Amino acid sequence: MRPPQSRVERRTLQRTLRESYRSLRQTGLGLPVSLTQLLSLSLFAKDCLEQRGGSPDMAELYSIFDAGHDDAQKNMPIACRKGCNFCCHIAVSATIVEIDVIARHVKSTWSAAAIEALVARIETTFRMNVDDRMAKRVPCPFLVEGSCSIYAVRPFVCRRQVSIDASLCEKALDGADANFPFIKSVGQHGANVRVATAAAAKACGIDYTAYELTSAMHKFLQGAIDIRRFDRRKDFGNEVLADEMPSDLHRHVEIFVEFIK
Ligand code: SF4
Repeated sequence: MRPPQSRVERRTLQRTLRESYRSLRQTGLGLPVSLTQLLSLSLFAKDCLEQRGGSPDMAELYSIFDAGHDDAQKNMPIACRKGCNFCCHIAVSATIVEIDVIARHVKSTWSAAAIEALVARIETTFRMNVDDRMAKRVPCPFLVEGSCSIYAVRPFVCRRQVSIDASLCEKALDGADANFPFIKSVGQHGANVRVATAAAAKACGIDYTAYELTSAMHKFLQGAIDIRRFDRRKDFGNEVLADEMPSDLHRHVEIFVEFIK
């Protein structure tokens, strides 16, 4: 498949992608995922960003993503359970679009006291590096009573961490000679969808860098950040924030934009 070369080709391709998106809503995004499916998702996210002034319907994107996951996991010995949170002690990265959705969710559904408690938890973690957080077993600030308090709007990075052995997760957290046993194909699936969403943001002129979730959330909760006018230097000052999106993902974002712009 090559990017459209003319306005007519672009219109035809985008009509096909919007039709394909309608069938994705019925079936979810299973594995393996096709380029057409990802471009459909990306075009939907771009349409939403354009219509809603910077807020895509992530709930819909997440439900399509999760439905595919459920299918992909059917015959796997999935160890993840509510209350199991070893992987919620490692740093999480998210794009501005995802962070904005979480901040809006928190501001519109949490009490002032709960937000204040969240900010206090963030302030204990947001300047710690990944190794320190793991060594001291400092949990993600969104972990409340052992469970994710933003489960419905948690970022793609969290959604794609699906483990087949909780005891290995615990060993990995303890720094033993073990890696988190996440299912690779699901991880790749999550990375693909993340690229699709980042491409939608880029096509709309919105920053698509990946930031460390808690540092960025601190800023978003403190001020009303408009992601349309977001400027990482102005809004984040000189603070160093992670860009954990590997360069090959950046390259894929550029390619996706050629199809959906
Ligand atoms: S956002 Fe939720 S799922 Fe992700 S690390 Fe934090 S508590 Fe865990």
